[in-house]
Amino acid sequence: MSPSFHELQLRPALVKVAGELGYERPTRIQTLAIPPLLAGRDVIGKSKTGSGKTAAFVLPMLQGLDLERRELQALVLCPTRELAAQVRGEVRTLGRGLPGLVTAELVGGQPARGQRESLARGVHVAVGTPGRIMDLLGTGSMEPSTLRILVLDEADRMLDMGFGPDVARVVRSLPADRQTALFSATLPEEIEAISQAYQLDPVRVSAASRDAPGPAIEQWKVFTPPNERFGALAHVLAGTPHASAIVFCNYKASVLEVTQRLQSADVSADRLDGGLDQFHRDQVLSRFRAGSVRILVATDVAGRGIDVEGLDLVVNYELPQQPEVYVHRIGRTGRADASGVAISLAVGPADARVAGVEELTGAPIMEHPMGAPKGPTAGLLRALAGPPPMRSILISGGRKDKVRPGDIVGALTGDAGGLAGGDIGKIEVQDRLSYVAVRHHLASLAADRINAGRIKRKRFRATLVGR
Ligand code: AMP
Repeated sequence: MSPSFHELQLRPALVKVAGELGYERPTRIQTLAIPPLLAGRDVIGKSKTGSGKTAAFVLPMLQGLDLERRELQALVLCPTRELAAQVRGEVRTLGRGLPGLVTAELVGGQPARGQRESLARGVHVAVGTPGRIMDLLGTGSMEPSTLRILVLDEADRMLDMGFGPDVARVVRSLPADRQTALFSATLPEEIEAISQAYQLDPVRVSAASRDAPGPAIEQWKVFTPPNERFGALAHVLAGTPHASAIVFCNYKASVLEVTQRLQSADVSADRLDGGLDQFHRDQVLSRFRAGSVRILVATDVAGRGIDVEGLDLVVNYELPQQPEVYVHRIGRTGRADASGVAISLAVGPADARVAGVEELTGAPIMEHPMGAPKGPTAGLLRALAGPPPMRSILISGGRKDKVRPGDIVGALTGDAGGLAGGDIGKIEVQDRLSYVAVRHHLASLAADRINAGRIKRKRFRATLVGR
């Protein structure tokens, strides 16, 4: 039996929050990484998303903070804005028992001004993407001399995305006596080289002896000639019960084609690819998390860092060239003890990409018993058609307008709103806008009610998004 969080020597305030979050015991990577990190050692951890790796570095990082000094003590570098937002969220959640904790999210694609201001006021923990952090260091907006711990999260992704030089520049400006933790799903030579350059006698930890995904993920392959791929996808989606699914493609063109074909058959689907601006990427992800779109069709670059609770199906419409990418893709389903299904469309038994994955994970991927599609694609799509359970509403006010989730619930329920609490789903309040999901058939009514009423005595605009 693994030790408890308490036995790992974490402070009571942190143990308590872990308990409240329903974390009964540390995961394997947590059991292995927390003790050396608490002891001040450098750690190189091989673990994938879903292993609990974020808490594995966030908990010891929080324990080491001196909250009385409002200065930068911990920095986490992430490959994408989405991941940075998630990690910062986890820092806030796990740190909610630590009075006065101040964190900042420092990512590109947003004006630097607010970020500079929050740094000037003082933060304990900063989470961000390498380019923006390099800029903030370069302009003197970020003072690195008080830094004690640096975390490189998903280091292999950062290299894949070309952040190597930025990371190097950031690390060069940090104090040499800092602690450095490096987490990566894979440990190719380039990562070992980074570890050598940035770490001192690191403790090596690994969640699995191999790269294998957790046993909770069922993996299958379905054979299809390339020109019948879409029909095979419809067959897979129709034949696999799921509440929400991600379909991964290698190319933006495939994403566009698949999304368009699903949508024109009235299937609830939307795209996530590099061609979308940040606002629309955030919006699609928010709708997906809220159940306002059932099927997300994504490329790897756009899909990085997606963390969706209850995702139960991942389809590889096109198998990736690198087996590590496959492991990363399917790691999105079957998180933290929930089970998931991953189905890959392969060209045929000789598909070398399947062999590559099998070699990496050390386990064969079986051919799915559902076999080849029997009926026409149109019939399969009809079985998938229909609205998603929820529909999202965009509200023109957020945190900076003093809007809180409770205010939105308040505006939608009671005499003014007329909805029941159970009609309202996920609420996401951002700086200047919010999303609320409500039962699909009540969405127009709910938007009308918000437009007619007030939140915190102010008027806001509500717009239906998606369909
Ligand atoms: P990560 O690998 O950091 O992306 O974490 C995957 C998911 O596991 C997150 O949603 C966490 O909230 C959850 N999680 C982290 N640690 C634990 C734990 N000890 N027990 C149960 N769930 C956990």
